Parts: sequence; structure tokens; C-alpha cells
Amino acid sequence: MTTYAQVCRDGHILNTSPNPEYIKDYEYCEDCGAEGIIECPECNDQKIIASDQNIRTEDVARGDLDLFCRSCGASFPWAGDNGMVIRKGVFVDDDYVNGAFDRQTVEEINRCYRIGANSAVLVLYRKLLENTIIEILRGHYGTDRIKKFYDNNHSRFHRFSVLVSEFDDSRADLDQYSDNLTDALINKIWEFKGNGDAMAHSIKYEVEDDELEDMSSESAYVANVLLQARNEVQRAN
Ligand SMILES: [Zn+2]
Ligand SMILES: [Zn+2]
Repeated sequence: MTTYAQVCRDGHILNTSPNPEYIKDYEYCEDCGAEGIIECPECNDQKIIASDQNIRTEDVARGDLDLFCRSCGASFPWAGDNGMVIRKGVFVDDDYVNGAFDRQTVEEINRCYRIGANSAVLVLYRKLLENTIIEILRGHYGTDRIKKFYDNNHSRFHRFSVLVSEFDDSRADLDQYSDNLTDALINKIWEFKGNGDAMAHSIKYEVEDDELEDMSSESAYVANVLLQARNEVQRAN
């Protein structure tokens, strides 16, 4: 059975029902104030479909919404200019990016963020943290102390959990590059590691739209502290 939705023009889901006649509850979105609509504003002939199955409102994510009207083909207001964008803004900013890897990874993270590919955001974000920590350890310790970041037995960089532990243990050496390598920062990195693991290794775990948006400012902070420290390490060594 189909689930119909009332959606604000910015793409927030206000209400859903299997019966489109019962759906109009809110004139305006509580989050952003935009008008709530239940049918295609172009043709007024197509109810907005949240899912082709019967699912609960809280299980509908913005990424599930149709981007185009099934009747007239017009793109819905939340589809953005190119029919893809479901939210604005960025998950991490590019204030401290340096080099092609940073730039490409941050761009991909933010592209996934805007189109609602929530799990991909966290997997890529974890990759950004992992790489930045390797660069910090490698930049400071060099190949003389390669064991800090590299697993010679398996000829690869350490697993993320080992890297975070090494980074944590090395803070007395690394403090010279940043004032922000605090316990709180380390704890946040462990939290994001857990989220990234769940995304990469579990088929069941899903991250909600709100959850991801709530993480955004902390994620940007953690990434910026690490990237900035990495830049200082590279400048000094
Ligand atoms: Zn809204
Ligand atoms: Zn239409």
C-alpha cells in the first residue's frame, strides 16, 4: 500500500498516511516555516508519495521522497535546481583542506549530504578523519617511527581504532601543533568511528535525517581541528 505525505516546500516531512484524504494537518512547517503541500503544485493532480509501501511517518526519510511528479513530470520544490538536492548546506566545510585528497573527499561528503545519502556521508567522513590522523602521525614521527601509523606485518596502515589510540597516546608530542587536541576531541572521534563502523558494516543501521543534521556542526569542528593540526605538522616538518 502506498504511503502519501504532506511535505513542506523545503522537503521536511510533516505527516504521512496511507489515505491521502486524511493527510493535511499542518499549514506550515514547524522547522522552517515553509508551506506544507500534499500534491504536485504544478498539476494539482498527483498526491505526493513518500513510499510505495505502507510505512510509518518516522520511517520516511527525505531521500525517499519522489523528486519528480509522477503525473506531469515537474520537479518538486525540494528537488533543487538539478532534481537532486534535498537539503542545503554542508556537513564539513573546506576551510583547512589542503591537497587533492582532502578536496575530493570533502566535496564528496557534502555532495552526499545534499542529496540525502546519509550513510555514505558517515563512511566518507570516517575516511577523512582516518587519513588526516595518518598524515599527522606520519608528518611528526616520519618513517623512523613508522609503527605509530603503519602495520609492517600486514603492509598497510593501522586500523582506524589503532590509529585513534596512537593519536591519543601521542598528544603530549602533538600539542605543539594545536591547542585543541583535548579529551573531548578524542571522545568525539571515537563516537564518529562507531557511527562510521555501523554504516560500513551493518546492513540494518540507518541514520535519520535529523540525526545527521545534528551531527554536522560537531563533525565540522572535529575535522577542522584535525586538518588544521595536520597543516601545522606539515608546515613544521
Ligand atoms: Zn520545512
Ligand atoms: Zn504534477
